[in-house]
Amino acid sequence: MKIAFIGLGNMGTPMATNLVNAGHQVVVFDLVESAIQTLKTAGAQSASSAAEAARGAEVIVSMLPAGAHVKGLYLGQENQPGLLDALDGKPLIIDASTIAPEDARLVAETARERGLSYLDAPVSGGVGGAKAGTLTFIVGGDEAGFEQAKPVLEAMGKNVFHAGESGAGQVAKICNNMLLSILMSGTAEALALGVKNGLDPAVLSEIMKQSSGGNWALNVYNPWPGVMENAPASNDYQGGFLVDLMTKDLGLAWQMALESKAAVPMGSQARNLYVQHAAQGNGRLDFSSIQRFYRAGEE
Ligand code: NAD
Repeated sequence: MKIAFIGLGNMGTPMATNLVNAGHQVVVFDLVESAIQTLKTAGAQSASSAAEAARGAEVIVSMLPAGAHVKGLYLGQENQPGLLDALDGKPLIIDASTIAPEDARLVAETARERGLSYLDAPVSGGVGGAKAGTLTFIVGGDEAGFEQAKPVLEAMGKNVFHAGESGAGQVAKICNNMLLSILMSGTAEALALGVKNGLDPAVLSEIMKQSSGGNWALNVYNPWPGVMENAPASNDYQGGFLVDLMTKDLGLAWQMALESKAAVPMGSQARNLYVQHAAQGNGRLDFSSIQRFYRAGEE
């Protein structure tokens, strides 16, 4: 298939690479030239704008930071027309970014008015899952679009869920990330408590993994440097999932909770922790760097 891929960051780069490796003809665009070069080396074609990348595409995949970027791309901004008004054919549009459900519904509705199908398909699994092609896609949109998207998504992921109508993928993803932030901060808190009381973080991690405290953050993404070789914690918290992005997702959870009058005391606590951590200059670090918050003042 001819696929346009827009947004080649920590996630988009390995996802687009997997589409190339699956034999698709992939045309890429990002605002950062070096990201485009990486994909060219991997076998993709480059474009000098999103509209150029989308020319003749059967499918468009976007992987952008936040709702403002997604709305800017598809609906346009400041006298610049959106991609929805610059398309020559009727490609299926799949946005894999994590954004507010109402932003996804707005783009989906605008696409529908133009006879186009737009799916929100946020992902879970992190950069490791993106590289390994084992992401979980959580899709919102109509059944026909979902069925059409499945083979493309399966080239980048292992599990593909249809959560419901437009926006439903985002709702599920936001609930998941609120839980993840609680699990990561809880894991960091427990490790710091154990270490302050004389335990080796690797030994404590192994014990908790085999005990009732085991969870994804502890089992595959340990936040203590040196415990897990491939985790961002062992690479100075570089790469991975940025604190700024987790803070964004917790803001989305908070917004959803306000609108639906849902009580989220744990999510609110995690959001406060992450906002404070970001405000201390850690926004560009991986989100497991919340461990440093608990280690402040260490000798
Ligand atoms: P990132 O910041 O690393 O990458 C975003 C990329 O989009 C950048 O390369 C940027 O230059 C590009 N971009 C921005 N606006 C653009 C535009 N108008 N046209 C073309 N390119 C544009 O972010 P990421 O970590 O890859 O995350 C992307 C999305 O996936 C976010 O919504 C995030 O919440 C979500 N997500 C990330 C992870 C993770 O582990 N990193 C996991 C799950 C979901």
